[in-house]
Amino acid sequence: MTRRSLTAILIFATLLVAVLTLINGINETTKGGRLIGFSLGDDQSDLTISSVISGFPADLAGLEPGDMVISLDGTPTETLPDILGAAATLIRGKPTSLTFLRKGEIKTVQVIPGAPLPWGSLLWGLLAILGYTAVALLARFRAPDGLPSRLLSFFSIAVALELALPLSIPWVPNWFLYREVLFYLLTGLQLGLELHLASVIPKRYAWFDDRPWLTRLYYTIGLSAGGITALLSAADFFEIQGTSGLADFAHAAMNHVVLVGWGLAVVTILIVQFRNSITPGHRNQALIVLSGVVPWVLYNIAESFARTQEIDFGAWFDLAQPIVLLLYPVVIFIAIFRYHLFDIRVAFKRSLVLALVGIVVIALFSAVFEALSSRFGQIEQAGPLQVALFALTMLLLGLLFNPVRRFIQRVVDARFYPEKIAQKERLAELAANLPSLGNLGAIGRLVVEEVTRVFGVTSSTLLVSDPASGLLLSLASASDEPSDDNDSSLLLESSDPGIDQLRLARRPLPADILAAASPALAQRIGTVGAETATGLVNGDTLVGLLLLGPKNDRSKLTTEEQGLLRMFSHNLATVLENVRLFQCATYEQLTGLLRREAILEALEVEIERASRYKRPLTVGMIDLDHFKTVNDTWGHLAGDAMLQKVATELKDCLRTTDQIGRYGGEEFLFFLTETDLETGVRVAEKLRAAIEHLPSPVVEAPGLQITASIGLTELRLGTDPPPTATDLIRTADGALYQGKEAGRNRVVTAGS
Ligand code: GH3
Ligand code: MG
Ligand code: MG
Repeated sequence: MTRRSLTAILIFATLLVAVLTLINGINETTKGGRLIGFSLGDDQSDLTISSVISGFPADLAGLEPGDMVISLDGTPTETLPDILGAAATLIRGKPTSLTFLRKGEIKTVQVIPGAPLPWGSLLWGLLAILGYTAVALLARFRAPDGLPSRLLSFFSIAVALELALPLSIPWVPNWFLYREVLFYLLTGLQLGLELHLASVIPKRYAWFDDRPWLTRLYYTIGLSAGGITALLSAADFFEIQGTSGLADFAHAAMNHVVLVGWGLAVVTILIVQFRNSITPGHRNQALIVLSGVVPWVLYNIAESFARTQEIDFGAWFDLAQPIVLLLYPVVIFIAIFRYHLFDIRVAFKRSLVLALVGIVVIALFSAVFEALSSRFGQIEQAGPLQVALFALTMLLLGLLFNPVRRFIQRVVDARFYPEKIAQKERLAELAANLPSLGNLGAIGRLVVEEVTRVFGVTSSTLLVSDPASGLLLSLASASDEPSDDNDSSLLLESSDPGIDQLRLARRPLPADILAAASPALAQRIGTVGAETATGLVNGDTLVGLLLLGPKNDRSKLTTEEQGLLRMFSHNLATVLENVRLFQCATYEQLTGLLRREAILEALEVEIERASRYKRPLTVGMIDLDHFKTVNDTWGHLAGDAMLQKVATELKDCLRTTDQIGRYGGEEFLFFLTETDLETGVRVAEKLRAAIEHLPSPVVEAPGLQITASIGLTELRLGTDPPPTATDLIRTADGALYQGKEAGRNRVVTAGS
């Protein structure tokens, strides 16, 4: 069906609801318009009043049980038809006379016909109809078009129609029959729609889509149950032989079996949905909808029970029906459009805490009140000192409120959520320890290790963003199944929609939502099998990204855990940013190696030391081969990622006493302490081979590989003055140039 025809049907149904509601209103006002409000005894021949309805015209006019009606509206009344005939001509609000016999005395009083309107029940009914119509229209026009909103819209308008069906329409003969048929057909339709709706909330699952017959089954069962009952009602109405018993049976089956079974089926489907949901959001959605369905189901069961056992729960039970009924579409509406605002578990915990705090404070208050009253008698009679004392106590109680709340919160947490306290403490400790680690690598390793443990997830990966290049660099990852992919960096343009989403969300996101927004992130999320993604945001900038895999026990992160993760990610973002600011001064951002100035300074110091103590020292210059081609072929981001990878590799190959820095774009300067040229060549050869064998740093550029040429020189001892850093670099550069000339990817030495 097209969008437009759906809308047309809905609008037509809404108008119909309005018309039917109007007819209902007219019915109520005219039907009650002629009422006077007394009933006659069982023996209606003598026209003696047996009871008078309080608040009705007869009661107001002073009639009492035992009075005998003689004439009404000037018409003498001797039989019941006389009274009915006279009453039929009465007009609401127009005074008329009623003559009666009381204890042998004839009295005439003036009555104003017209029962008071049953405003209460009328308004309830109207409210329910309005509620359903509103949900139907909102779902149609205020919500993104989709199967759930369409189903919700039609389900709601079907209920509104059913509720609005008047008991009688004066100008429609046999309306009662049509009403029965419409009623049961609408009920059957609702049955199908509701089961269908429950099956697609919060999400359609493949198993459901694979079984299209399920949907057909829903509607077939619903409509045939409704249709058969309607048919039998009609047959009964026309007094077709033998159908009366069947019709009663059908009504009973509809009320006691179909309605109850239907409710239980909806609950079952929702529980299945809850268990199948992957994301906390979806589970919350299912829980919320359940919370709306369960009262309705319980109500149906109670009603069926009351009817079969002939128990009368009283008027409130009938009044509760529209509310219980309305709960369902309203919660679905909330679930579809606002679900993330709710978490049943958190709501439960909050209300538990608040209730306990309330009880404690009220108990304290009552105790103080009681103590003061018994000490000073009535509070009103207390003198100024007592009043001051009382006020002081109140003040203390007020001050106590928060500590009491915190205490109770802790008790509730410890009792119901002990693991939450442990988690919270470990994360707080972790956050406190991070800054003292000083360097990014150590921070990254500790974070992924701890986060994996604290949240009990199978893996976690920490990426930090490099503002200069726009790269998300893989800082550390911890996983059950180590994989090289986890360590590679991620190309993420600053305009990538994923970045905005992470920046704006400021809370953990289901990884699949993020993946849908950003293909680049989807790739990484897929390779590490992440289920939750948290952007590390400092101020307005995305500092990094923390990816968590699924939990070990396959359960989902609770909203509380998400809250913890969110707090921790704020801390982590600040720590990372601070460390980076500090490192910026000494270390080069992209590669994490020493800056040019820093490596030059370190080289000067080392030359001086080696010259003084007559120690060997080798200095080398590395230049990546054809790096411009790399950029041209794979893009600058890929080039940057390669630079970063080369840098990490070089650093890893060297001893801690050696130093390396980024001298230029893709040129690295290093020196090897306590190393003569011969050994230096071996080291340099190792570096060259390591670069040559580096796998591509980015998944998008699988063929990206690189070589490097290295020029080496050593510090000649005994020259006076000793050579400067510039001298050594110039010599190493010369050797490097020869290496390039000779065909690249080689180590060349030069004397100095
Ligand atoms: P060869 O050294 O083998 O002669 O060729 P080449 O293409 O590497 O030439 P050269 O060393 O002269 O060029 C350096 C190139 O490296 C130029 C520039 O495109 C690239 N480059 C320099 N710095 C960076 C950087 O920070 N990121 C990226 N992606 N590329 C850089
Ligand atoms: Mg080069
Ligand atoms: Mg160069």
